[in-house]
Amino acid sequence: MDAPVFCTFCAEPLQPAGRHPVCTGCGRVHHRDPKVGVGVVVLDEQGRLLLVRRGVDPGKGRWALPAGFVDAGEDPRHAAARETFEETGLEVEVGAVIDVYPSTATGGHSGASFFLAFEAVAVGGTLAADDDALDAGFFGPQALPELAFASTRDAALRVAARASRQQHRL
Ligand SMILES: [Zn+2]
Repeated sequence: MDAPVFCTFCAEPLQPAGRHPVCTGCGRVHHRDPKVGVGVVVLDEQGRLLLVRRGVDPGKGRWALPAGFVDAGEDPRHAAARETFEETGLEVEVGAVIDVYPSTATGGHSGASFFLAFEAVAVGGTLAADDDALDAGFFGPQALPELAFASTRDAALRVAARASRQQHRL
């Protein structure tokens, strides 16, 4: 990521100091905020995983969880539901966090700084790819397409394992 060179408040040059640049004019510290990615693991009644084919890099043309970036001030679960609806046409209820993945699992510097994967269930809508997704569909565990990110398989496997443990308990 390219660092800013001038102060966004007073336009004086920034000076590297410690972890964050400091303005030589007004003295403000310039924090660089992380870009937070959120996505959902949605399984249908047959245990198939909802995936979208990415229309943008990183991972363009490959498949991933419905996902996107959290807007400033937005509830992360709301962001996950909004992105899922935009990409797949499905309305989802977003549940527990499956895990938090570092950028190495989500495509490196051009993607999210880190990625929150949530469990979610479809509660409405009609499946249809839209926004920056080229295609969307449900895939069985034996028939997964080429995935863009390691976090997709990891998050899906955890949800599947949890579901199977719950079935055994009944
Ligand atoms: Zn300044």
